[in-house]
Amino acid sequence: MKICRFDDTHIGVVDGDDIVDVSSVLEALPAVRWPVPPGDIFISNLTSLAPRIAEAARTGARLARSQVRLQSPVANPTKIIAAPVNYLLHQEEAMVDREINQGADIKTIDTYGLFLKANSSLVGPDEGVELAFLDRRIDFEVELALVIGRKARNVTRHGALDHVAGYAIGLDMSIRGTEDRSYRKSLDSFCVLGPWLVTADELPDPSALDLSLSIGGTVHQSSNTRLLIFDVPKLIEYASAAFTLYAGDIILTGTPEGVGPVRPGDIMHATVQGIGSMDVEVRG
Ligand code: MN
Repeated sequence: MKICRFDDTHIGVVDGDDIVDVSSVLEALPAVRWPVPPGDIFISNLTSLAPRIAEAARTGARLARSQVRLQSPVANPTKIIAAPVNYLLHQEEAMVDREINQGADIKTIDTYGLFLKANSSLVGPDEGVELAFLDRRIDFEVELALVIGRKARNVTRHGALDHVAGYAIGLDMSIRGTEDRSYRKSLDSFCVLGPWLVTADELPDPSALDLSLSIGGTVHQSSNTRLLIFDVPKLIEYASAAFTLYAGDIILTGTPEGVGPVRPGDIMHATVQGIGSMDVEVRG
């Protein structure tokens, strides 16, 4: 299934060009009281809700894609984990571009480990990206994103994909500069997740997916997840060795070569094979 969140409080199932409102299933979620347990309560119940969602999708109101405002399919992650320099050709371009490397020798992910983006940076495709600093170079980075389905710690590579609820397209928006990644990549709207979550049963193998980003018909990034240095199972193993993963946690797997700056008015067209595409507006 392709599951989206729209208009703040609605859940939809994507059916062709339509979105079917299945928000009635949210009534089956357990009531929560403070302190709220960590994790996204919708994602943590997604497997048990699946039969109700399928049933609601037969009778729910059908809406055109243009009628809804798509938001991040995950509302409440405990963290957004991201992989730095996880494609060799992105490492090469970073090594020759001084605005990216700031004079530093660029290594790959096995040197840097992982980094975290602020949860408050998370938006959906129809919310767009806001460039808070127009005097800075701010780049697009298209990435395969995965969403964790259940609490996990010390997951082995072998069982890693069992912990994935689904996949989405991620945009890891980034200021180029000397500041720490957690600052440069955490501004409001600097993590776009969408257009929906493709559940793992529909996309069982993330190891060879084309991904791309274009602006105004010009293709800037075009690659395939088979070129990841740390693939999806390895990223889950590596992340869960350090952090407890909770339902709804997001892992951005890293961007391929071709990164470049955006300007107000740009529409970023991002695609990942098996997921779909999204158009994300850049505002000044
Ligand atoms: Mn990135």
